[in-house]
Amino acid sequence: MEIAQNLTKVNQNVQKSLEKAGRDASDACLIAVSKTKPVEAIEEALQAGQLHFGENRMQELQTKMAEIDSEDIIWHMIGTLQSNKIKHIAARVNWIHSAYKESHLIEINKRAAQHDRVIQVLLQVNISNEDQKSGCDAVEIESLLTAAREMDNIRIRGFMGMAKLAADPEEIRPQFKYLKELLSAHASKNGSNIQLDQLSMGMTNDMSVAIEEGSTMVRVGRAIFGERNYT
Ligand SMILES: *Cc1c(COP(=O)(O)O)cnc(C)c1O
Repeated sequence: MEIAQNLTKVNQNVQKSLEKAGRDASDACLIAVSKTKPVEAIEEALQAGQLHFGENRMQELQTKMAEIDSEDIIWHMIGTLQSNKIKHIAARVNWIHSAYKESHLIEINKRAAQHDRVIQVLLQVNISNEDQKSGCDAVEIESLLTAAREMDNIRIRGFMGMAKLAADPEEIRPQFKYLKELLSAHASKNGSNIQLDQLSMGMTNDMSVAIEEGSTMVRVGRAIFGERNYT
């Protein structure tokens, strides 16, 4: 009950922010981040019409994809990648937001090919300038795109960024603006399996600012499923 109500509220906020930015109602997709939450919570959200779900741990994603028998769900891997575990999610995962090394791309492509699939991939870019945040530097994007162009079983769809934790989301607006600028700057690389049309940015605390700055995918956990006991 509560999850359905939360979803309604979050979807309304997404629409409000899109409207404020003068964007179309279909311009941003809500990804429900279900990490640490039980399968029942995902099923409740699914019942309420939510189709995109995100997990940040590979093992947890693998387990949940196996336990929930729904072909309708679009699964997103949004957390740190461990190359040796990609093979366990490649048969089912639809999107991977967190590739930032050529070795990630090679492994995702190889495993997707074994299942005769194409996995949608975002390059995670470090926009917060914090050393502990993962992601590539902006200067590395070009060579990653060049490498990816040879890989038929991945499609590079854009960038993912995580902003700094800030009490005031206005503080991080420039970081979102920057990621959008990077996407525009690389649009000339579009063609074949490079299709840069997605920006994954914005979470519970900063989704409105992110949408105003061009986010097409917000990754929202707590506002939908409630607080977590661990991250
Ligand atoms: C947990 C997580 C989110 C969602 O965070 P909330 O604050 O719960 O909305 C988004 N993106 C990533 C990569 C996460 O790990």
